[in-house]
Amino acid sequence: MHRLFARQRDKATKPNGEVDLDVLGQLVAEAYEQTDRDHRRADRSINLMVEELDQLNRALEARVSEGTVALGHREAELRTQNLRFDAALNNMSQALLMFDASARMEIVNKRYCEMYGLSPHDIKPGMTLQELLSIRKSMGMFAGDPEEYTSELRDLMTRGDSVTQYIDVPDGRTVAICNSPMPDGGWVATHEDITERRRAEEIIAHMAHHDSLTDLPNRVLFQERLADTLLNAKSGHHRLAVFYLDLDNFKAVNDTLGHPFGDELLKRVAGRLRACVHENITVARVGGDEFALILPDLADIGEAATLAQRICQAIREPYDLLGHVVVTETSIGIAVAPDNGFLPDELLKNADMALYRAKADGRGTFRFFAPEMDATIKARRALENSLREALYQGQFTLHYQPIMNLDDNRIICCEALIRWNHPQRGMVAPGEFIPIAEEMGLIVAIGEWVLRQACADAATWPNNTKVAVNLSPIQMLNARLVPVVIGALASAGLPASRLELEITESVLLQNTEATVAALYQLRSLGVRISMDDFGTGYSSLSYLRRFPFDKLKIDRCFISDLSKDDEDGLTIVRSVTALAKSLGMVTTAEGVETEEQMDLVRAVGCTEVQGYFVGRPQPLKDVSRLLVAALPPQAKSA
Ligand code: C2E
Ligand code: MG
Ligand code: MG
Repeated sequence: MHRLFARQRDKATKPNGEVDLDVLGQLVAEAYEQTDRDHRRADRSINLMVEELDQLNRALEARVSEGTVALGHREAELRTQNLRFDAALNNMSQALLMFDASARMEIVNKRYCEMYGLSPHDIKPGMTLQELLSIRKSMGMFAGDPEEYTSELRDLMTRGDSVTQYIDVPDGRTVAICNSPMPDGGWVATHEDITERRRAEEIIAHMAHHDSLTDLPNRVLFQERLADTLLNAKSGHHRLAVFYLDLDNFKAVNDTLGHPFGDELLKRVAGRLRACVHENITVARVGGDEFALILPDLADIGEAATLAQRICQAIREPYDLLGHVVVTETSIGIAVAPDNGFLPDELLKNADMALYRAKADGRGTFRFFAPEMDATIKARRALENSLREALYQGQFTLHYQPIMNLDDNRIICCEALIRWNHPQRGMVAPGEFIPIAEEMGLIVAIGEWVLRQACADAATWPNNTKVAVNLSPIQMLNARLVPVVIGALASAGLPASRLELEITESVLLQNTEATVAALYQLRSLGVRISMDDFGTGYSSLSYLRRFPFDKLKIDRCFISDLSKDDEDGLTIVRSVTALAKSLGMVTTAEGVETEEQMDLVRAVGCTEVQGYFVGRPQPLKDVSRLLVAALPPQAKSA
């Protein structure tokens, strides 16, 4: 690695091993400024020497002509001065040459010959710049045309301005040449080898434009390339496509296996992406697990779809990461220019929206941007923002729906059902916002509020009435669930036996061991666990064996069409009830809307009913009144 760069890089390295590019850039800039200052100082001292020599000459000539000094003395003084000048000249780190007004070389130092591998015998004062350059050219030390170069430089010098040129020597070095005109029409040229400095600049430029982990172009370079490609596409009237990719379960790999595995996975994905595409396609890493591609010259949309398919397929192949087999998938959003916009930001935004859509549609797939996505996503984002605020603004409220025991027609439990009292939209049903809160992870905080509020409300109810609270699968995966339940019970002063937690089958689909362990912990506190919406999942019976539920709530889809002539429906409810009974579980028929349905479910052996017939979900004050009156009027008359 470049020495100067290595030193500055050490200084700019943060304790965590990352290089701070800003600090590095600043340090290297300072080092360059120092070199420039040295260069300028050397130029100044050379000019001073030249001037001094000139003045001395003139003074001596004047004194010789006045007769005050002997010619021999003048020559002696000049010799001394020349020796000093030679010593200074030949010990400079830069090469130096001085030319007269007709481009004849008057002075050259040793460094110049060394720099270009020239023999001091070949380079003699009196030769022209063009001759000098011709010798260099014959030795492969000058790439240009000596005559042209000389004539252009002379033109510049006659204008009287200093000029710095950066010349690439054919052997790979870069030399900075500073040409400063002198009053007599000649000029002084200094040459400095800046190859190392250039290399350091290139490394910094590379680091500033590439991701250090995968060495792919970063977001900055991606945006520059996109802007350039868009300009070319516009002038050439062709289309281009932007792909926005994101790994589907990267966070899980990082969280479960650790960051070194996450990093390794990103490198492998980068490698597969590069292998999938032609080299004229830019592949960049634009964020943590986000990548982006530019397809510069798109013949037809099908080409983009084929490539997207190929990428999804390549990323899906298992990875062997240091002995661990990891599987990940990628979702891809595609925006096409000019169809979906002609500005880099617009295209990226649209590709991102299409990605959002690909993820929503099941992941591991790709979607092209369509204008209507914009409106859907804007509405969705607005909903997310207001949902985030709702908890802190106290916009959630709980309604309670009574659950009646069919043995004695008493209300033994009320289910807490959340409502969002939206300032503009009024009461919003949970079906509209719970799935979004789950995706946002906000359900954990909302669920904690529900638990605390429901326990506090239930503590005020008569007859030891229980309260049922719904738990989202996301809450079940949260390690804090058990402490949160204990806290809610303790601060409400509610005995654990009066709390029922309702979970759905989907809870048992994921991370089963940890989930079942949490369920046992809750049960050991005295909390009762119910299986909600039974019959709507996949393989319900196998889930019943994973945990001994206290209660099974038969989903209302089995109840809503129930009538005395519906033999099949009755058979299902009867079998489920019998099965539950044999496993020691209580059964609740959900969605009972009519007296007939209540009688039928009672006849087939259900223990409890819940539904509009017994009571709708209602605000706390109403349900409290109902509980005090002990029984709902409809049930009394039944
Ligand atoms: P769920 O737990 O099955 O709750 C019963 C749902 O059925 C409630 O809908 C209730 O209003 C409705 N329902 C009850 N009886 C009848 C009936 O006779 N006929 C009909 N057609 N519907 C009836 P709601 O309140 O809209 O809640 C829907 C779902 O939202 C709940 O289903 C539950 O899964 C979820 N949910 C509600 N509150 C919470 C909560 O605090 N946390 C979580 N995680 N989910 C909740
Ligand atoms: Mg429920
Ligand atoms: Mg239910």
